[in-house]
Amino acid sequence: RSSALSAVPILTSLQKNCATPLPVLRHVADAMAADMRAGLAVDGGSDLKMILSYVNSLPTGNEKGLFYALDLGGTNFRVLRVQLGGKDQRVVDTEFEQVSIPQKLMFGTSEELFDFISSGLASFAKKESGKFQLAHGRKREIGFTFSFPVKQTSIDSGILIKWTKGFAVSGTAGKDVVACLNEAMERQGLDMQVSALVNDTVGTLAGARYWDDDVMVAVILGTGTNACYVERMDAIPKLRSHMSASGRTIINTEWGAFSNGLPLTEFDRDMDVASINPGEQIFEKTISGMYLGEIVRRVLLKMAEAGALFGESVPEKFSTPFILRTPHLCAMQLDNSDDLEAVGSILSDVVGVRSDLCARKIVLEVCDTIVKRGGRLAGAGIVGILQKMEQDSKGIIFGKRTVVAMDGGLYENYPQYRRYLQDAVTELLGSEISKSVIIEHSKDGSGIGAALLAAANSNYA
Ligand code: ADP
Repeated sequence: RSSALSAVPILTSLQKNCATPLPVLRHVADAMAADMRAGLAVDGGSDLKMILSYVNSLPTGNEKGLFYALDLGGTNFRVLRVQLGGKDQRVVDTEFEQVSIPQKLMFGTSEELFDFISSGLASFAKKESGKFQLAHGRKREIGFTFSFPVKQTSIDSGILIKWTKGFAVSGTAGKDVVACLNEAMERQGLDMQVSALVNDTVGTLAGARYWDDDVMVAVILGTGTNACYVERMDAIPKLRSHMSASGRTIINTEWGAFSNGLPLTEFDRDMDVASINPGEQIFEKTISGMYLGEIVRRVLLKMAEAGALFGESVPEKFSTPFILRTPHLCAMQLDNSDDLEAVGSILSDVVGVRSDLCARKIVLEVCDTIVKRGGRLAGAGIVGILQKMEQDSKGIIFGKRTVVAMDGGLYENYPQYRRYLQDAVTELLGSEISKSVIIEHSKDGSGIGAALLAAANSNYA
């Protein structure tokens, strides 16, 4: 008899607490819709910030000319240029480069960071060949994707609220990040200008919409998570003066902060308490790539300590937070060998334990429970957004083809997660309506999307 069996009661209770039957999904979708509405009513009215993007003209396909994009959202920044050829030619040519940000700049001054970025941009711009043509009398315009919390004040300005994701740069919070970049470009003698400041979800929506007019929502599921969607101006009570011709804009929900009605466990609560932002980003901590592996590690550690799942002693590295990562869960779930050899070797390599077949099966059950909950709740969140849009104008979503553009490493690389997400959407919408709701991967659309938004908001238009 395997001692692993003593972990079964912990597994059973985990499965019970993480269950997402239809009523739970429905409650989450309804709460998402209600929280969106509250966040649109007044600033601070909800967990969801419902940030105005100031993007009032979506790409149409008619955009023409040379545009640049700059993407700062993590430990890398990416630069891209694209030659847009209008309706028929579309993307004539595109080139990009990625530069990793030296660790010390993440803890340096604002000037140092922006100088580094603008010198990267300058050296990329220098390599522009004759394939790319700037219209006479124009400066090179940039769409700047900046994936940190920003209080946007116009399409081309926004104040940094705070750095996140391990950045602790001094002197940027409270400042306009576009001005910071412009000043750095000036110091560099680089004659380019930012025409659009965009969040990465907004860039993804714009990039997907360029190819498909039915794109209404974009969702990022990567290290973290966020979503945005197309909203009617007259459905945004907190917006008083600002009106756009098209009568529509993109709202950045910042849905990672959602917390209503989620099925959470002691493991989620302990992870949250130990996190750098306790009490915040609860939805993100339940569904996104940074956390799924860590939740599983905490469950397995409890099983190991309580019931000798992996033998008598628990290796020290098992207690290291975040040592088990979401890609490990994915690799384990892909193991379809009889003896679950890959599961065994990941457990031994990553957390330093030996496991018998029974223990490996339990580990897979734990992974599946956490990943299933994450995928299904993400699906419920998407349905919540669609529901909110449909409630406001009947037929806008459920009477026609609607596309949800997805991006991010978790969605892209984790097939099982993707299946659970789709299942939940289908269950919630029913088989008929879900046929016209298309959830599709829009790979790296956000870079081109930012360039398109620079074009759509060009200072020369
Ligand atoms: P970011 O969100 O950091 O900008 P990505 O969109 O590339 O970057 O997402 C990276 C995240 O995707 C990782 O933190 C990880 O959680 C998840 N991920 C990457 N590869 C895999 C994989 N093979 N299986 C599951 N998750 C993955």
